[in-house]
Amino acid sequence: MTAILTTHGLCKNYRGIKAVQDADLSVARGGITGLIGPNGSGKSTTIDCITGFTRPSSGKVSYDGQDITGSPSYGLAGIGLVRTFQNVRVYERLSVMDNLIVASQSLRAHGWLPLMLRSTAVKADEKAIMQEALSFLELVGMAHYAGAPAGILSYGQRKLVALAACLITHPKLIVLDEPLAGVNPTIIRKISGLIETLNEQGLTFLIVEHNVDFIMRHCDHVIVMEQGKKLTEGKPEDVRRDERVLEAYLGK
Ligand code: ADP
Ligand code: MG
Repeated sequence: MTAILTTHGLCKNYRGIKAVQDADLSVARGGITGLIGPNGSGKSTTIDCITGFTRPSSGKVSYDGQDITGSPSYGLAGIGLVRTFQNVRVYERLSVMDNLIVASQSLRAHGWLPLMLRSTAVKADEKAIMQEALSFLELVGMAHYAGAPAGILSYGQRKLVALAACLITHPKLIVLDEPLAGVNPTIIRKISGLIETLNEQGLTFLIVEHNVDFIMRHCDHVIVMEQGKKLTEGKPEDVRRDERVLEAYLGK
């Protein structure tokens, strides 16, 4: 399988902390790659570098044949690379529907302005966008909350809305930071099923997740990080048996 995303010598320092050190990573196109490792091992920082939420200190990030090192996130959404956050982010005062509309508009212009101005072009498209938003809300099982402020949703429901907000940008690669953390078993099943279905339709995933069952069941490749470095990688069953991985988790 060819890679849709690679990093070469990726480093990120935060005032003396080497959050990511010399990481060479590869995400296979069409696959589900898991990124695991103990707390503080650099998983979120790696994702931040990949998705344009922080600039790497050094190293290179390539996506879909382009050098995207240091590219801002809004530009990356336009070429099909989006993410969700470990601490899920929704606009609490906006309706669930408007959360998706903001996500789709952010592709056209960077941010809120077109929505606030309700420009003619936006208005003309509005109905089609709303229909599309509704279809993604149906997919994630949140259509009945379309008109509700996102602030009333549970944590798990917010994660479903955040996923729908990614999907409305028509991504090729979705990066999920701990999609199952803090979520009840029903929503875990829902999110797992969605990832599986979307992957069958051709969407590529890079997923940081502590839920080992999920990683074993759904990922075709697992990368393990420890103290900012790539410790090992391979098939889930091999990684699970690797003594270095067990030691990293046990903190020996
Ligand atoms: P993980 O997601 O694997 O738990 P992180 O990438 O969040 O790990 O963190 C890796 C290391 O970098 C930790 O030591 C963390 O404290 C540090 N770190 C992460 N983000 C920042 C930041 N914005 N400023 C300073 N240090 C940070
Ligand atoms: Mg993290």
